[in-house]
Amino acid sequence: MHMKPFDFLVIGSGIAGLNAALGLAKLGTVALITKKDILESNTNKAQGGIAAVLSQHDSFDSHIADTLRVGDGLCDKTAVEFLVTHAPEKIQKLIDLGVAFTTRNGVIELSREAGHSTNRIVHAKDATGAEVERAMVAQAKNNLHITLFEHHFAVDIILEKGKAGGALVIDTKNNEILSFLSKAVVLATGGAGQLYQYTTNPKIATGDGMAMAYRAGAILEDLEFVQFHPTAFAGKNGLFLISETVRGEGGILIGADKKPFMHNYHPSKDLAPRDIVSRAVFAEQKKGQVVLDITHKSADFIMQRFPMIYATLKGEGIDMTKQPIPITPSAHYFCGGIKTDLHGRTNIPCLYACGECTCTGVHGANRLASNSLLESVVFSDAVVEDCKAYSSQSVQKNPLHALTLTSSKSDGLLSSFQQIIWKNVGIVRTEYELQQALIYFKEVEENINLLFKEGINESLMELKNMVTLGTLLAQAALTREESRGCHFRSDFPEKKEAWERHIKQKK
Ligand SMILES: Cc1cc2nc3c(=O)[nH]c(=O)nc-3n(C[C@H](O)[C@H](O)[C@H](O)COP(=O)(O)OP(=O)(O)OC[C@H]3O[C@@H](n4cnc5c(N)ncnc54)[C@H](O)[C@@H]3O)c2cc1C
Repeated sequence: MHMKPFDFLVIGSGIAGLNAALGLAKLGTVALITKKDILESNTNKAQGGIAAVLSQHDSFDSHIADTLRVGDGLCDKTAVEFLVTHAPEKIQKLIDLGVAFTTRNGVIELSREAGHSTNRIVHAKDATGAEVERAMVAQAKNNLHITLFEHHFAVDIILEKGKAGGALVIDTKNNEILSFLSKAVVLATGGAGQLYQYTTNPKIATGDGMAMAYRAGAILEDLEFVQFHPTAFAGKNGLFLISETVRGEGGILIGADKKPFMHNYHPSKDLAPRDIVSRAVFAEQKKGQVVLDITHKSADFIMQRFPMIYATLKGEGIDMTKQPIPITPSAHYFCGGIKTDLHGRTNIPCLYACGECTCTGVHGANRLASNSLLESVVFSDAVVEDCKAYSSQSVQKNPLHALTLTSSKSDGLLSSFQQIIWKNVGIVRTEYELQQALIYFKEVEENINLLFKEGINESLMELKNMVTLGTLLAQAALTREESRGCHFRSDFPEKKEAWERHIKQKK
């Protein structure tokens, strides 16, 4: 079935998609499609906050330097400058949209996270993403130019003469395949933590946008750089992130011998960059359970500063004011993705991307904490700016498709895929393990292709997308014969000079 054409199609209802849709609604009609309920997103889970230079004791140069240092030589400096210098105005924009950030004596409170040399994290207590999402969803639902389609799963980009002109979408409530046509398509589909057995990401994070863009011919970049968060708590309802700000406020990691250990791994101890802390926890876990202890702070402070984390852990039987929190590392953030320029353009005309599904160059080999919500706002605004050029263009003709729906399931394949990728393409990698993973992924792909003969559905497409992305990730990890940022090869533990030269030439 064909939907009536829209001027713009935005896929994804996290911070990037909502912000793009709100901006594009000033230029024309917008279809905002999202595969589950509107709130289901990584954005809604974000705790710590958004990095921005707002203090007189801080400077753009310092935020830029911190981002470049954590990015470990692979950031695009121009993109980083673009990100950092736009941050203060984007915080004001979010406030104007109705986001209530935490204040102290009428001034925005700034907290600190690992890798930042000063306090610059704007936050809404410990549930920043949920507050941003709440405010933006309210705006989007009240906007007459935005039509919202929940439970609509995007399958593929519609291309005509090499240009993006819409998407094929499954309406999963009514079990129907729809063609959405538009002048431009914006992918804001978020990350892909669900590839891994252990992840802080919600179920929606299956890398659909990256795989879709790849099938359409878009360039993906830096996929080997997956950030693993060092501190997640394995609860009854899956993994729950214990924000870096708990360490920022004095939380200490303790090993099986009941002693702190981070001084053995990095001079910044518990506030070392995430990849270093993750590998340290991964190594210490071999000796026994690792815990995060903040019991030396007052109970009032902990409950006031971390109300959401406190309440969630309490529900799991852990009182973090009195007991240390058992933790494990888990897949958290995709630094790489669809390659875009400073306008959010991909290499495919009329196809834009913003948010975690992209590689804008700001993260390089590792993301500085709290730069990703910021990146999503800055670059989705850039997309809107570029889309002003589309007002005079027309929507392309209705394409034909030969897709049918099936009810086949692939749960067994999915869980074994997630286990293999965690083990072989996870925190510590080797050539042998990566090769083994690639052999296995090929087998899974062949099985999926057999299932596809009967037709498609949401879960089969998600698995296909995850295997596509997992394969590209393992190939990228195999090619990079060095350890840099959050990519660690135990068979190549050093940084390679050749890469340093390559980076210098790129600059
Ligand atoms: C636990 C946690 C804590 C975090 N804390 C912070 C933090 O403090 N600061 C920070 O800067 N970053 C943080 N991050 C990272 C940050 O939340 C994400 O990078 C950011 O929210 C990404 O926004 P997005 O709009 O790109 O994607 P998302 O918010 O993930 O939204 C993606 C959207 O796309 C939809 N979608 C996906 N595939 C399809 C499809 N095929 N069809 C239709 N719709 C689709 C999804 O349903 C969803 O609505 C955190 C992440 C997690 C998981």
